[in-house]
Amino acid sequence: PFCFAKNEIIDSKTAQIHPMDIGLIRGYGIFDFFRTSNYIPMFLSDYLDRFIRSAEKTHLKLKFTKSELKDIILELVQKNDLRDGGIRMLLTGGVSENHFSPAEGELFIFCEELLFPGKEKYENGVKLLSAEHVRMIADIKTTNYAYPVWLSPSWKDAGAEDVIYHFNGVVSESSRSNIFMVKNGEISTPNNHILHGITRKRVLELAPECKIRSISFEELLDADELFITSTTKKILPITTIDDQKIGDGKVGEITKKLIADFVEMEKNHTY
Ligand code: PLP
Repeated sequence: PFCFAKNEIIDSKTAQIHPMDIGLIRGYGIFDFFRTSNYIPMFLSDYLDRFIRSAEKTHLKLKFTKSELKDIILELVQKNDLRDGGIRMLLTGGVSENHFSPAEGELFIFCEELLFPGKEKYENGVKLLSAEHVRMIADIKTTNYAYPVWLSPSWKDAGAEDVIYHFNGVVSESSRSNIFMVKNGEISTPNNHILHGITRKRVLELAPECKIRSISFEELLDADELFITSTTKKILPITTIDDQKIGDGKVGEITKKLIADFVEMEKNHTY
């Protein structure tokens, strides 16, 4: 496969990074991740806007404009024959003299195979393990996922799909997804300490009546329906948190309807 590295499209196997890049030694960098569906990079404009915003907020200079990035991505999709796959953009912190200050980063764009959760998970729902945690500078898609990577063996041991973060009793998000709850027919999603997910944005378009507000962990456990949203999971129902059943423990009707509406929205997406 081909990737974009250091200003050109090259064979992915030959891509290199300096070992003193603060992306590696300090975990400082940004990334974004989206997917193609039938060769169309879905909702590309939103992902590029978020990537550019992340670069600005982290004091990292992006040497390419939005439209240049788009052209590079379309060329990669074509060269890699990427019908249904993932695309990862990475901007590292760069190599700096004091090994600490943000410097001139390296931009990489890789194509990857994409694996969605199995069909049974959408039919039966999955479990999340709760953890007291809040992400720093949460609205930036930084490369620092040390906490959930460290935690992941525990949620796997507990038979959970992922984690749900809460802090001072308030819920934020899952490790790589946003969360929504339904109670008495009303849909809500947290407003603080979250990454503004592109899939979340799509769900808010499908359900404009959704309340964006502070949600307590207690409320979440007492919901009728829960689901998480992300690029790689789309809309995934949650039926258990820790050892507690959510609602009647089955995938709810509003969740099912949104899953179906999302499929329709994707079918009609062009750009
Ligand atoms: N929250 C975090 C921390 C994430 O890393 C992600 C996705 O990677 C999301 C939420 C969901 O965002 P999106 O729907 O854009 O994939």
